[in-house]
Amino acid sequence: MDLFEHEARDLFEKHGVPVPRGRVVAEPAEARAAAAAIGGSVVVKAQVKTGGRGKAGGVRVVHTADDAEQAADDILGMDIKGHTVHRVLVTEAGEIAEEYYVSFLLDRAGRTFLAMASVHGGMEIEEVAATDPAALRRVPVDPLTGVDAAEVTAGFPADVRAEVAGVVEKLWAVFVAEDCTLVEVNPLARTSAGIVALDGKITLDDNADFRRSDSFDDSADGDPLEREAHAKGLNYVKLDGDIGVIGNGAGLVMSTLDVVASAAAEAGARGPADFLDIGGGASAEVIVNGLTVILGDPQVRSVFVNVFGGITACDAVATGIVRSLEVLGSRATKPLVVRLDGNNVTEGRRILADAAHPLVTVVATMDDAAREAAKLAIAEV
Ligand code: GDP
Ligand code: MN
Repeated sequence: MDLFEHEARDLFEKHGVPVPRGRVVAEPAEARAAAAAIGGSVVVKAQVKTGGRGKAGGVRVVHTADDAEQAADDILGMDIKGHTVHRVLVTEAGEIAEEYYVSFLLDRAGRTFLAMASVHGGMEIEEVAATDPAALRRVPVDPLTGVDAAEVTAGFPADVRAEVAGVVEKLWAVFVAEDCTLVEVNPLARTSAGIVALDGKITLDDNADFRRSDSFDDSADGDPLEREAHAKGLNYVKLDGDIGVIGNGAGLVMSTLDVVASAAAEAGARGPADFLDIGGGASAEVIVNGLTVILGDPQVRSVFVNVFGGITACDAVATGIVRSLEVLGSRATKPLVVRLDGNNVTEGRRILADAAHPLVTVVATMDDAAREAAKLAIAEV
C-alpha cells in the first residue's frame, strides 16, 4: 500500500529523519489556523497518492495565513491524475539552497535492495534519470549488513556529505522497521536549518501487514479505475497502454497480454491498457461491469475480448457482450475485437453475428485478433 505524504512524514519523524513542522487539514479555515500556528511562510500541499503534484499546481508556497487559506481552498477538490484532493498538508516553508534525491527500493529484477541518490533532485528527477543515468547513483544494499551511507553519498558536496549520510542511514532504518518496498525523498533539501526531507513517498509491503501496529488510510490507495473495479468485485488491473484486455482465467489473460504487447509493438500501438479476468462462469453482469470500467478509461482505444470457453460457455459471454453494449448505449464508443473458442463456440459466434453490432469484430484466432485490436487502437477516429 502507498502512504500519503503526511503519513510518510510521520514515519520519518518517528525514526528521527528531519522533517518540517506541519499539520494535515481538510478545510481552508483549518489551513489558515495551521499556517498561523506555524508562523511565517508555509507550503500548502495536496495529499494524493500520486507524484508530480508540484507540476499539477498542487504545491503552493505562501507567506500569510490568508494566502494559506486561499491556497487550501484552491487545492482542496482539485483532480490530480484522477485523484481528488481531500486534504492538504501545511508545513513550514524551508529556504531551499539545493534539492537532492534519495530513495530505497526493492529491486525485484536485480534481486536486491537498492539505494539511489542524486544531487540533482527536485521535480525534474525523472528527466535526469533518463538523460544522464550516471547522475543517479545506484548502490545495492545487503539487508544483513545495511546501507553503506558513505558510498551512497559519494557524489554529494563535501560540507553536507556526513549530514546527508546520517539521514540516509535513518531512511534505511525506516525502510527496515516499517517493512517498506519503497522509501523515497524528493526533494531532500539543503536549507538554512540543515538537511530536511521536504517530500516523502512510502510504499508498505502488504505481506507484513500482520505484524504492523500502526494503521494507515487505505481509502485512496491504488489507481482510481482499479478501486472502482474492485468495488464491483472485478479482477482488474490497470496498465499503461491503449488496448483493453478481457479474458477468462489468469493463464489465458497473461498470454493474451503477451500477444497484445507484441502485436502493439509491431503496429505502433502502446500495448495493454489494463486487463480484466472474468474468471470461470462469468455472468453477463460481470461483462457489463467490466466493459463499463474499461470503456470509461480515456486511455483505452480498442478492446480485445479473448475467451476460451470451458466452464464459461461462449454463448454466455456473447450474450454478455451484446447486453453490455445495449446497457452502455452511446457510452460504448470504442471498437471491440472478440475471439471466442471452446465450449458452445458456434452458438456464441451466432449470437454476435445476429447482433451485428457496428463496434464488434469477431476474429477466429488469438494472434489475428490481437493484430486487429492493435490496428484499431492506432486508427483515426
Ligand atoms: P511532488 O511534485 O509531488 O514531488 O511534490 P513536492 O513535495 O516534492 O513539491 C514539489 C516542489 O515544491 C519541490 O521540488 C520544491 O521545489 C517545492 N517545495 C516543496 N516544499 C517546499 C518548501 O518547504 N519550501 C520551498 N521553497 N519549496 C518547497
Ligand atoms: Mn517530490
